Amino acid sequence: MRMLLALLLVTAFGGADSEMRFRLSGSDWQVVPALEVLLVQVDAAWPAPHAADGTLASVKHREASPTSDHNPDKHGDVRAADIGEVVENDGFTLAEAIRLSKDPRVKYVIHEKRMFSSYAKGTYAPFTWRPYGGDNPHLSHVHISLLKVNQDDTSSWSIGKDSVEGDDDMAALQVEELQEALNLAGLFDEDGNVLEVDGVYGAHTQAAFVQGLRNLEATLDEARVAEIIRQTILVPDVAAQ
Ligand SMILES: [Zn+2]
Repeated sequence: MRMLLALLLVTAFGGADSEMRFRLSGSDWQVVPALEVLLVQVDAAWPAPHAADGTLASVKHREASPTSDHNPDKHGDVRAADIGEVVENDGFTLAEAIRLSKDPRVKYVIHEKRMFSSYAKGTYAPFTWRPYGGDNPHLSHVHISLLKVNQDDTSSWSIGKDSVEGDDDMAALQVEELQEALNLAGLFDEDGNVLEVDGVYGAHTQAAFVQGLRNLEATLDEARVAEIIRQTILVPDVAAQ
């Protein structure tokens, strides 16, 4: 549901990427599809940006770590992300959920002086925590690297928190809040009728959402509309956790 709304927002404005925590692409690089799905989910679940967030390696990082998955390969594909801990424990929640899911797209994950990988290492079985002694202890972010072989798999990730595909009750509540917000903002359906607040994201609600946003585009700036959407869609979910 939220993915759909996010897509509509992007459609309505030709790109609301500035609200996203992570850079997903540049002129000559892009994160692989599997990583994009993960980062969109993380952004929806924990929307506040963090200084440690990152995808593409800096030039300095590239020189220091030429084999890092943060570096684009010859196709421009980037297979790693650093996900900052916006609130203490979300890194544990995220890393542990990914570990327990044994997601076949994972190469390895590093967090808080520990790491696990999808392959066995020494006496450590796949998807088992082991000590990590690298220079950067990863105290404020989760690093994840993905395998090339499954990089085009765009199924949802298990991240320890409902995001794109929450349960139906939560989705219905969020649609009700959206419908109320649309009515309050004077965004009605294709015939100019006030929306019924029924929690069903049907044709009338979609028409109000898309057409209303297009109408509003002339009077409200993108950031303000994004803020409205964020307040109506994201904050209740965060508060519920
Ligand atoms: Zn990293």
